Amino acid sequence: MKAEIIAVGSELLLGEIANTNAQYLSEWLASAGIDVHYHTVVGDNRERMQETFRQAQQRADLLVITGGLGPTEDDLTKEVLADLLGRDLVLDQAAYERIEGFLKTRQREMTINERKQALVIDGATVLRNDAGLAPGMSVQTEHHQYIVLPGVPREMKQILKDYFSHLFGQETIRSRTLRFFGIGESALNDRLETLIKEATNPSVAPYAELAEVRLRLTAKALDQQEADRMLDELEQHVLAEVGMYFYGYGETSLPEVVLKRYQEAGLTLSLAESLTGGAVASGLVDVSGASQVLRGSAVVYDDAAKQAVLSVPEDLLREHTAVSKEVAIAMAEGARELYQSDIAVALTGEAGPTSNSGKVVGTVYCAVADAHGTRIVEWQYPSFDRGMIRLRAVKDTYFLLLK
Ligand code: ATP
Ligand code: MG
Repeated sequence: MKAEIIAVGSELLLGEIANTNAQYLSEWLASAGIDVHYHTVVGDNRERMQETFRQAQQRADLLVITGGLGPTEDDLTKEVLADLLGRDLVLDQAAYERIEGFLKTRQREMTINERKQALVIDGATVLRNDAGLAPGMSVQTEHHQYIVLPGVPREMKQILKDYFSHLFGQETIRSRTLRFFGIGESALNDRLETLIKEATNPSVAPYAELAEVRLRLTAKALDQQEADRMLDELEQHVLAEVGMYFYGYGETSLPEVVLKRYQEAGLTLSLAESLTGGAVASGLVDVSGASQVLRGSAVVYDDAAKQAVLSVPEDLLREHTAVSKEVAIAMAEGARELYQSDIAVALTGEAGPTSNSGKVVGTVYCAVADAHGTRIVEWQYPSFDRGMIRLRAVKDTYFLLLK
């Protein structure tokens, strides 16, 4: 669609005012994807206006005309356009009553010129002017659309906002981040392939970071409620597919979600950390309010420390080595006893780069003890990167605590 913006007013030609309306309209049209090919300015003169409108009809499909709708003799826009379209000017009852009401508060009778402001082109869609008295108009003919707006910038903008927000792309963009753990970026991509590739609005984009994946959902709509509704629907689709890996929204973190969950449940937590050297506790302590949940963490790296602090039996260590299910269970139960917490978690593993325990590098045991007993989980990380193994173990522990 090709558009032409026509500003009417001799004061523009005299240089008394700048044609800011054209600039504003251009910006709006551009955001609607409509190409503006011409800006025209014409004075308050019947013949030249006629000629200007005719010329614009030749080279544009959409004519946006601003100015010349007022009550004075020189406000000719409607008359000239009605003539050109071969239509009459008719009284718009609503606009008439608005003018009447306005004058009543000033205890004045309506003049002929004031009444003129309530005239509209026959067959036009009347664009109510909530900021003034002269309404705007939209006229559709076989080949053209005409949008006629008041010259007063505030009134023009009000009408644009009320009637053309949808067209002029005044959209709201809303986005939402979903956080996942326990699934890699490529696996998540595979599971959501069609959504990620094909959805444009709303759209989905994955980001990987430190053993986690985030999905950013973005929706564009005319209002916030609609955008949020679109996001809700998309989120449901996403979670139906990969909900088991989801743990939270936005800037939240795994330790934050763990602490919140345990705090709400009124449960306390303690830790026994060999492989992770206190990193699980450190992540929790990063979050303010951790003291309501976390009782303590024993960093028991050496076998002797495991015995002395957590009463892990010496023969258990000798028989199974420190990297074993048996020792992990004993550590968790020892920590629960030591710190008198509802739940205790113990971590032991082989972080490499070479194995001291005889276990494959990347083997990690995590034991969780509570009043009902102790369960044990084994993780195998296919990595020889010491830092990565420890990071994964820390995050896997948090995630396990959420299940
Ligand atoms: P009114 O109903 O108030 O008479 P109108 O539609 O007849 O409005 P004009 O009389 O042409 O509009 O202009 C009213 C005022 O609006 C001008 O004095 C000027 O301050 C401002 N105005 C008009 N056209 C423009 C424009 N293109 N850019 C910026 N300001 C404008
Ligand atoms: Mg005027």
